[in-house]
Amino acid sequence: MSDARKLEFAPFSASPKGVLVVFCEEGLKLGRVTAKALSGTGDLLKRAAAADRFTGKSGSALDIVAPAGLSAPRLVVLGLGKPGKLGSQDFVKLGGAVLGKIPRAASEATIIAEFSAGALKPEQVADMAFGARLRGYTFDRYKTKRKEGEDTPTKTNIALAVGNVAASQKAFVPRAALADGVVIARDLINEPANVLYPEEFVRRCGGLKKLGVAVEVLDVPAMKKLGMGALLGVGQGSVHDSRLVVMRWNGGKKGAEPLAFIGKGVCFDTGGISIKPAAGMEDMKGDMAGAAAVVGLMHALAARKARVNVVGAIGIVENMPDGKAQRPGDIVTSMSGQTIEIINTDAEGRLVLADVLWYVAKRHKPKFMIDLATLTGAIIVALGQEHAGLFANDDKLAENLIRAGAASGEKVWRMPLAPEYDKIMDSKFADVKNAGGRYAGAITAAQFIQRFVADKTPWAHLDIAGTALGSPQTEINKSWSSGFGVMLLERLVADNYER
Ligand code: MN
Ligand code: ZN
Repeated sequence: MSDARKLEFAPFSASPKGVLVVFCEEGLKLGRVTAKALSGTGDLLKRAAAADRFTGKSGSALDIVAPAGLSAPRLVVLGLGKPGKLGSQDFVKLGGAVLGKIPRAASEATIIAEFSAGALKPEQVADMAFGARLRGYTFDRYKTKRKEGEDTPTKTNIALAVGNVAASQKAFVPRAALADGVVIARDLINEPANVLYPEEFVRRCGGLKKLGVAVEVLDVPAMKKLGMGALLGVGQGSVHDSRLVVMRWNGGKKGAEPLAFIGKGVCFDTGGISIKPAAGMEDMKGDMAGAAAVVGLMHALAARKARVNVVGAIGIVENMPDGKAQRPGDIVTSMSGQTIEIINTDAEGRLVLADVLWYVAKRHKPKFMIDLATLTGAIIVALGQEHAGLFANDDKLAENLIRAGAASGEKVWRMPLAPEYDKIMDSKFADVKNAGGRYAGAITAAQFIQRFVADKTPWAHLDIAGTALGSPQTEINKSWSSGFGVMLLERLVADNYER
């Protein structure tokens, strides 16, 4: 999406242009390059710091407009605290914070990436650039007017001055791929449902082909042939036909079992005949965030040529009330052969996942499957917006996900699965029902899905209803859609399955 800010690496020796951003440690300690850049300003920094009680604490900033002795229109000094303690995530956040300090109206800016002890490492610089990239994302393609007083975004050229340009560029390559993946997911989620309906979603997946990803699309007749009555029932009330998209990236050993990622892609969820209340229904354009994360992940992995085989499969439907729509009480037959009594047509995501998971396990025999879905309001009640709900039939996979969550900043919290919860999903008339009632709503949803995991395939389910949409604004996300899941799963793959 349109980001009017262009960030490039530059050597320390280049003369700073535009807004100047520098770092400072506890006790107002500056690096050599920074001190040189500020040499004409006398005791400006000391006086400004005293006036603002700025000491260089981590997360604090000093903003000086038209600094005397500098040609820069603005000097921003960011506190690093004691930088020895900073980890990868801190540099990502720092990059976001830095970008947030550069006014939209600025045409040029320079960031001096330096500690008091010397240049930031290439990896740290790359993390910063990654954070800045994500922070710079805006979804404004439908804004044709600006409010008075709102900054008109100018094209901003930002130079990130570093100790080693070539090494920094090299370290940034995989992160740029990941940032692009997150941006792709955010864009898909932010798009309204009149623009992004199943066919258009499929069209946008086509972009992956350029990276060497095979994209296979199953239409309604193809899914009927496979017996996907659960998925097809959800979309039958919509004028937009359902689709199943299977994306394959083969960067690993030939024939090695693939990792599988499955996404819920409900382009709009009205609830169907069990229609949702009007308030907040507009957010249901984002009910395809799981599928969007899978597309973003496929991009991130293929763009950096990940050494692993991966299958991404997304069920793309629209859930509408209509003369042809599915009713409560209907009984559908899933691809697995299990019959499902529809209790509530708004519990549609699990119906989509049921057929896609069954298909992927049978057809691709993956090493494991992880599904992502904006599945239940209950998970938001349980965990808020800080953790996604994690359910798994495999402890090792769950542990790897929890670790990848901590490392990537996209955190997950494990929830229970148990026969007692599973029983709640038994139906009076069919093998299983699609809604279990008020208690343990996120868990019974997971229990439902688990019944469609074929051949004891290791499986994890991520309920991202709280983390993917309207999520808290952070240093690296000012968008309604966070793109949750792309960073988490890219990290999972990189740390565990590429060696
Ligand atoms: Mn629903
Ligand atoms: Zn839904």
